[in-house]
Amino acid sequence: MFLIGFTIVPLVGDKMFKKLTKCILLICTILTFTALTFVACDTKKVENDNASAQSKIKVVVTFNAMREFAAAVGKDKVDIVTIIPDGTEPHDFEPKTKDLESLNNAKVFVYNGFGMEAWVDKALGAVDNKSLVAVESSKGSDAIENTDAGELEEHGQYDPHLWISLKGAENEAKNIKDALVKVDSSNKDYYEKNYNDFATQLDTIYDEYNKKFQTVINKSFVTGHAAFAYLCRDFGLEQNSVEDMVRTKVSETLAKEVGAKVEKIHTIESADDDDKDYIQCMKENLDMIYNSLK
Ligand SMILES: [Zn+2]
Repeated sequence: MFLIGFTIVPLVGDKMFKKLTKCILLICTILTFTALTFVACDTKKVENDNASAQSKIKVVVTFNAMREFAAAVGKDKVDIVTIIPDGTEPHDFEPKTKDLESLNNAKVFVYNGFGMEAWVDKALGAVDNKSLVAVESSKGSDAIENTDAGELEEHGQYDPHLWISLKGAENEAKNIKDALVKVDSSNKDYYEKNYNDFATQLDTIYDEYNKKFQTVINKSFVTGHAAFAYLCRDFGLEQNSVEDMVRTKVSETLAKEVGAKVEKIHTIESADDDDKDYIQCMKENLDMIYNSLK
């Protein structure tokens, strides 16, 4: 399993930014690549888990963040299969036929959209399941268009990272809730309540950090992977990415020497090694960003 590493450094004026950028580029030269661990998708085990799973609503999701939202809304009433295994780079993922078998007997299929899963249309065309409800969970959110050439190449026309935004997460969870209500209307109240509880948690965190971010003058931070555009939009912040640093680890020792602060941020694209859930990961992300701006 791996987490994509990110750096956040405080920016103090243009000169300092240039200096830091130089230093970071220097650090880049000694970067080590994070190994990807491929984990076989063990769908059979999930299917055979136990008899009670048979009565649950079968939900197939593309990657970890979608699993988190589906679990927050569906809780005990859903049985979730994740197509992209934890530890796999989700942006480059191409499913094999066996990865899509779970879609044939699923009730709901949840994907992020905004180009995150470029393979979805093709996959849905190949699936033989007429009653499957496909949920593009980003639907209704405003997409941020990529303008930077590197970003266009890596992530496509739109920035896909909507889930690393509390507001984005709320919309994605709502779309999932609507789909669950559609396929399992007898449990409508259950899904509505779970969704409302989750949305309340997200709103509470948003309000707390919105107040905090308003107290800081410096609104810019540097990240190794430009995954925070939606989070920045929520809070009026600005991310500066050093794209060369994608999938890399930065030497903390060197960073200390140049006075930069290096932190690992949760992308939530894979499950956290410490089993932290979405809410915990987002709180840690926001704390790290806030502390770097103070
Ligand atoms: Zn990403």
